Amino acid sequence: MPDTVDGPLLIERMRGFGTTIFAEMSALAASTGAINLGQGFPDTDGPAELLDAAVAAIRGGRNQYPPGPGVPELLQAVARHQKRFYGIELDPANQVLVTAGATEGIAAVVLALCEPGDEVVTFEPYYDSYAATIALAGAVRRTSVLRFPDFAVDEASLRSAFSSRTRLVLLNSPHNPTGKVFTRAELDLVCALAREHNAWVVTDEVYEHLVFDGVEHIPVATLPGMAEHTISISSSGKTFSATGWKVGWVTGPARAVAAARTVKQFLTYVASGPFQPAVALALGLGDEVYAGLARSLQGKRDLLCQGLSDAGLTVSRPAGTYFVVADAAPLGALDGLQFCRELPRLCGVVGVPVSVFHDDVDAARTLIRFAFCKRDEVLVEAARRLRELGTAGWTPTDRV
Ligand code: PMP
Ligand code: GLN
Repeated sequence: MPDTVDGPLLIERMRGFGTTIFAEMSALAASTGAINLGQGFPDTDGPAELLDAAVAAIRGGRNQYPPGPGVPELLQAVARHQKRFYGIELDPANQVLVTAGATEGIAAVVLALCEPGDEVVTFEPYYDSYAATIALAGAVRRTSVLRFPDFAVDEASLRSAFSSRTRLVLLNSPHNPTGKVFTRAELDLVCALAREHNAWVVTDEVYEHLVFDGVEHIPVATLPGMAEHTISISSSGKTFSATGWKVGWVTGPARAVAAARTVKQFLTYVASGPFQPAVALALGLGDEVYAGLARSLQGKRDLLCQGLSDAGLTVSRPAGTYFVVADAAPLGALDGLQFCRELPRLCGVVGVPVSVFHDDVDAARTLIRFAFCKRDEVLVEAARRLRELGTAGWTPTDRV
């Protein structure tokens, strides 16, 4: 139905995006009082030093516009972080850009690099902002499906997603929503295809420090010959359990960072002023802070995987991120979206249907993503509720 006599208000390419699944499911959790294992945010705060530094920055008068590219200490801290963990050398003045979370970083890069009609290769399931941002740019999404339960890269399907119009590959490892950490061989394949097609690799590594079982996160920019072709994006939200602060960054070759900076100026100009120096301080915290978070999340991963499994779901054990994907078909679910909309009423738990991150909805028809970045007692209670549901069975109000 048109919004006005002249037609619908929203531009055509943004129709169909509606309200994000995270907003819908967090609102459902709030209105029903259900345990929210939907949207990925921790229910405890990050390091005390981080919080103290933000308070000090606010009290210390750092409350006006920061410089457009980011405060100098954060630009330097990001460059030092890349060197310390990965051996990547960056010029803080030209090769780092601070953004309003990784979300703005992704948008700035895609909008900066893609002409209308250019193609962007990405894996599905994909993080929801990828599809929306590609659409905003007037670019075309070309996908390759990662399939439950191991989510391995399918070479033939990836190859066929590339064409002479491919402008960039939008990669995400560790991967949301699957929890997959791409192997070196998989990354090599993606990079080889990108090079063959003269395409940029834009790599979203917001979960870079959240990897388990000794699995290695391999930054794409460290692969042989890739530094010149790679734009990396990360964020403090996940690493320091401060998702509401929205401090992210883009790093890469100076000309790519300059292109992103040009666009970024007109998205937010700047954001998160007093949080920037706090994140700069946190990036320099000791290895134990980083390792401690990963270790704690690994325990939570184990707790929730066991709980979901005991409840009768089939679980894909993630090697990284905040998330586990499980198949609810053994519980009788036929449609993940409907199942998630009913789950709060059925047992007081919220999850996210993976199908909303797919073009090929059938690839994830009954898959649900649950977040385990919550206090142990919350995970135990959620698992108990799901187990009861598994035992009792359930009747959907409106099966589709
Ligand atoms: N990319 C991925 C894969 C994510 O899961 C998220 C959510 N943290 C983002 C980007 C957005 O990060 P930010 O909150 O820093 O904008
Ligand atoms: N990254 C978070 C998740 O995947 C959500 C962020 C958002 O709500 N946009 O759950």
